[in-house]
Amino acid sequence: MIVFDHVSKTYPDGTMAVEDLSFTAPNGKITVLVGPSGCGKTTSMRMINRLIDPTSGTITLDGQPTAGIDKVELRRKIGYVIQNAGLFPHRTVVDNVAALPRLLGERKQDARDRARQLLNLVGLDESFARKYPWQLSGGQQQRVGVARALATDPPFLLMDEPFSAVDPIVRAQLQDEFLKLQETIGKTIVMVTHDIDEALILGDQIAVLRQGGRLAQIASPEELLRAPADRFVADFVGTSRGYRSLGFIHADEQLTVRHTPAAPLGSSAAALPPGSDGWLVAVDEQARPLGWIHRERIGEVVTAEAVDHAGSIAAEDAPLRDLLDAALSSPSGDGIVAGADGGYLGTVGTSDIVAAIQRSKRGRARPADEEAGDRA
Ligand code: ADP
Ligand code: MG
Repeated sequence: MIVFDHVSKTYPDGTMAVEDLSFTAPNGKITVLVGPSGCGKTTSMRMINRLIDPTSGTITLDGQPTAGIDKVELRRKIGYVIQNAGLFPHRTVVDNVAALPRLLGERKQDARDRARQLLNLVGLDESFARKYPWQLSGGQQQRVGVARALATDPPFLLMDEPFSAVDPIVRAQLQDEFLKLQETIGKTIVMVTHDIDEALILGDQIAVLRQGGRLAQIASPEELLRAPADRFVADFVGTSRGYRSLGFIHADEQLTVRHTPAAPLGSSAAALPPGSDGWLVAVDEQARPLGWIHRERIGEVVTAEAVDHAGSIAAEDAPLRDLLDAALSSPSGDGIVAGADGGYLGTVGTSDIVAAIQRSKRGRARPADEEAGDRA
């Protein structure tokens, strides 16, 4: 657990970068600091590993004030990932990852062995170990940066704009892999980004900072979208908040899943049961849904060519946003739902999804007030 207790930082030139910042980053969770450029995110983060000393206030790691922890010990405990990875250009990938353990006195071979394991963990195979940073893509360098930060197996991880320098497609992939990695490593993470969408994807909780390093709100992604504390947060979080918040809400058990008949590829048209309005769900040999198919488009047998791919397919455990999207994009008006094994489960109607959304809103209205009370 990382606790900021009334932390402020004024630079020697008088710039008040952080003012009276208090928050807790719980163990095993990702806390994202987000806010406009210059609002004090990097300063806040660097005070954790004492690259910058606070002017006042205390920061504790699992109850221990950082001011009293030896700096070498701090570096062992806190992994640090910076933007553009910041790799040593004249060292191989494996030696970049092994650098800090070596500096802390670990034997070369042990440090390299572990470095290779870590590279594997971040999705870089053996062939990357002997390469130099310039031979890697931006995304690959960033993975090395993450492996390097994990080299001492620190309980805490700080990440400053870790995915900002890569293109959007690679970024989305890195974010996705990073969340999976976190499921295995379970570190206590503080991450900085200026990108609210990244914060919403990665954060277990999000601290929104305003200029001067003042905390505007700290909340879960879902709560931030549903109940921004003020106009600044609302504007920063951006438009389509209602729709985006559905990405964090799941359907309850009351959601009606209809048993729209399936049309397996290769089956004879004559054998098919009637579907509502003529629409059926085409499925493959493993009973996985492929898309909608209309009776009138089926000749003697069901063929892949006749399948309409406009409708997205939502996973059973997907958030309401995916279910709604499946329905809205569907030619039949209903969304196709697949089970955890990918098999066809049934379909959901727009009005049933909207009803589920309304039930979730009713369920949430009160707890939000109580949470607000706790914070005050
Ligand atoms: P962010 O990471 O949110 O963009 P920073 O923490 O880097 O913001 O900076 C916060 C404020 O402190 C900015 O106004 C910045 O110009 C100022 N600042 C950062 N570093 C220094 C420094 N070494 N000396 C003086 N001012 C600084
Ligand atoms: Mg910064």
